[in-house]
Amino acid sequence: ATYEEVDVSQVVRELLPIINNEAILHKVTVQYEAVYGLPRVIADREHLKQVFLNICKNGIEAMGDGGFLTIAEKMDPEERRVSVDIHDTGPGIPMYVIDKIFDPFFTTKAEGTGLGLSVCQRIIHDIGGHIRVSSKGFGTTFTVSIPFP
Ligand code: ADP
Ligand code: MG
Repeated sequence: ATYEEVDVSQVVRELLPIINNEAILHKVTVQYEAVYGLPRVIADREHLKQVFLNICKNGIEAMGDGGFLTIAEKMDPEERRVSVDIHDTGPGIPMYVIDKIFDPFFTTKAEGTGLGLSVCQRIIHDIGGHIRVSSKGFGTTFTVSIPFP
């Protein structure tokens, strides 16, 4: 990995056209809530892009026929963390599945590799962050939280 100071907002903005293209195919509307002046994190820029893209694609794929994907930046000055919430209005993740989604090769998709989230998890752990998921019956939110120096 090549670590450098990375502006998470900039990474997200660079991904928006790609995410939007994917979203349009699934009749999904993308909403983006930026935080101005987000502190920079130490990360591998390309790996970080991969993380956000993977999670957004999962969200879009989960919404069979339309919905909303919301990407919301947050900043916690006390904890010194920047986070990005990626929320979809899909069917949610059943309880018996949610424990397994970060396992390599776990997939519920016919053509899935099941590698997306395990790779995302490793990338974020390597920079001292974490990925949390919350899904309660309807819709899913993934929170990617990354410390800043
Ligand atoms: P893949 O996308 O190849 O299946 P991932 O590791 O990216 O592999 O995801 C693993 C599994 O987690 C998916 O197959 C799906 O069952 C579940 N999942 C991930 N994100 C969501 C989501 N936003 N909504 C519903 N299920 C999800
Ligand atoms: Mg995936």
